[in-house]
Amino acid sequence: MNVYLISTSEVDKELISNVKNLLLGFEGPLSFHAEQHIEFNTMEEDRVVSWEALFSICERYRSNYNSVKKEDYIVLLTDRKNERSWFSAFDHKNNLFIKTSGWETFVTIDRLYPITYGVVSGILQSMMQLDLSGDDKNIHKRSIGCMNDLCKEKIDVSLQLRTGDICNSCIKAMLEKGIDKDIIWQAKKVFKQISDDSRFLNNFIYEEPPKEVTVTEEGSILIGDTLLKNLNAQQKALYTLYLLSHPDGIKDIDLLDNKLKNKFRYLYQRFSGKNNISEKQIKNIMVDRTSDIRSKIKDIIMKRFPSTHHFYNIKSGRLLSRTINSQTPRIIHTNFIPPS
Ligand SMILES: [Zn+2]
Repeated sequence: MNVYLISTSEVDKELISNVKNLLLGFEGPLSFHAEQHIEFNTMEEDRVVSWEALFSICERYRSNYNSVKKEDYIVLLTDRKNERSWFSAFDHKNNLFIKTSGWETFVTIDRLYPITYGVVSGILQSMMQLDLSGDDKNIHKRSIGCMNDLCKEKIDVSLQLRTGDICNSCIKAMLEKGIDKDIIWQAKKVFKQISDDSRFLNNFIYEEPPKEVTVTEEGSILIGDTLLKNLNAQQKALYTLYLLSHPDGIKDIDLLDNKLKNKFRYLYQRFSGKNNISEKQIKNIMVDRTSDIRSKIKDIIMKRFPSTHHFYNIKSGRLLSRTINSQTPRIIHTNFIPPS
């Protein structure tokens, strides 16, 4: 059975590919594909979107591609706010949506994990024909660390990810509904991986606070005492811009903001030693290959700080992560202050 991951246009492509890659690590009957972004220009970014509109995007995708079978799943990832502010929901036609924004107030780990968890649990819950809004006997109102916990409290979401479990009565219910036991097994393996990763990351965050990030006058970037090597002026300027400008990072669209452009010009000129770069050139340098730059920085940090990379690393579409104690790396910048 195929599962097609699609997304609305504002979702970072890297997030989709990370979700897909995490899911592809586990063999089983569910075969995951990441498809292209779907333009969603008819609605302003902040407008609340109805569930019907979200599911209709899935349906539109189905009707555009003959290869999609009725039993296949379409999972729409979207940053958009939805009418009931749910993180995910499904209809009865094998369509699901998962909200990709707002996770930072619920979990302390990379949103990749709850989103991936949501894809798999959503498919199983849809196969179980769970009534998410009603009084379904398979939904646990009091959290027991099962996939079908109602998760009324924030802490319950973390518990669910950390336990990565499906309780016996829910497994029994799934088998009674005729769900292939290999699908359940595949889901359990994904959940176990997420559980292992989130436990490890949480423990690590408790033990070790983030190191200070230093950007020197010439644009050398150090995490603690470790120099991030092999970055060019564009990469240095962009990373510093993210560090200085927003504790939560900057989305691609923010790069068009004039204040940010001025800051970037200041940093780029300083780090490259070039002056008098035109407005147009700055704009081009700034937005050119930003996703490549993210991958490059991510790669460097992942290799050097594999267990604490989440403190410093580029999130999908954002750069700096919020950490468990709202601690973010502090920047010491000596003798230079970009324009505000
Ligand atoms: Zn259960």
